Amino acid sequence: MNRFWSSRIQNVIPYTPGEQPRNQQFVKLNTNECPYPPSPKAVEALREAVGGSLRLYPDPECTDLRSVIARREGLDIKQVFCGNGSDEILAFAFQAFFDTDREVVFPKVTYSFYPVYTDFFGLKRREVPMNPDFSVPIDLLCGNNGGVVLANPNAPTGIAVGLDTVEKLLRANPDVVVIVDEAYIDFGADSAVKLINRYPNLLVVQTTSKSRALAGLRVGWAMGDAGLIDGLRCVRDSVNSYTVDRLAQAGAEAAIRDEHYFQFIRCQVMKTREWTRSALEGKGFTVLPSWTNFLFVSHPGRSGKELLDGLRERSVLVRWWDNPDIRDWLRVSIGTEEDMNVLVNALAELV
Ligand SMILES: *Cc1c(COP(=O)(O)O)cnc(C)c1O
Repeated sequence: MNRFWSSRIQNVIPYTPGEQPRNQQFVKLNTNECPYPPSPKAVEALREAVGGSLRLYPDPECTDLRSVIARREGLDIKQVFCGNGSDEILAFAFQAFFDTDREVVFPKVTYSFYPVYTDFFGLKRREVPMNPDFSVPIDLLCGNNGGVVLANPNAPTGIAVGLDTVEKLLRANPDVVVIVDEAYIDFGADSAVKLINRYPNLLVVQTTSKSRALAGLRVGWAMGDAGLIDGLRCVRDSVNSYTVDRLAQAGAEAAIRDEHYFQFIRCQVMKTREWTRSALEGKGFTVLPSWTNFLFVSHPGRSGKELLDGLRERSVLVRWWDNPDIRDWLRVSIGTEEDMNVLVNALAELV
């Protein structure tokens, strides 16, 4: 803290990103990145985008990228917004759609950026306690609130709800925006995109960071009613009109066009996930069902911190939160088959 800080930042506890070690000596399973490189076509498009045209500002409306997304999802381009990672879009959405006088509701165990946004933007929040099996208590997110945020599949649990449940949420909250954060949607769950034309209060947010192996490029997008998209544009153009640079637009567009490579990544990750699950269960670990590129894991005889530290000593990084609700759990990203073999052997030594 510093005496020149505004009271707004003096009172916020910012998000803590997962560690990015400067050397590569770890098996890195702590930030849900893709263990495979991006599509070779995306890398080629990035190379082609490097040149004299970088003297020009990028297209602020990301027209080419949005039209590729719109076509793939069966939407109108007016129903798509692109941003500098989905984190930025979520930050814009909290500002565009939530007012300070009513509570924004979300599950108590979910993406830890949501409470940071409500605090930072001066919003009230209500965090609803999880069911004992870590499923989301959907009824508690229905009605009497100023907006709803649902990560589906949820993080860090990995659990997804079906579209019938998302629809129930939309119908029970017709006068407020329901944000569905689909960062992990490509690893087995059903996207709410197909509900967009029936629910003007639905905003679906996706990213190239996980299933398209482009966390380093920073591209995310939102899909919803054109009126919601205009609201996001209004926030963006009050802050920075050029959030997605020329390289990011070119690389993301090529990655989204490369459907074949995308299918390879998601199938490979899901296959390795299920192998890892059964290997860990075989060693006595408890593993939640997962529709994501990570597993939420605990062991009846070891604390989460003991497992975290033991793995680190064995050069494996995973994510752990010092939070009473999930203190005995680790979130383990799905790496290559080789990475997961190292993880399983290291965990086996620790129990
Ligand atoms: C990774 C993640 C994001 C952020 O994605 P970026 O597009 O990289 O900013 C958003 N929401 C959830 C739930 C995530 O896990």
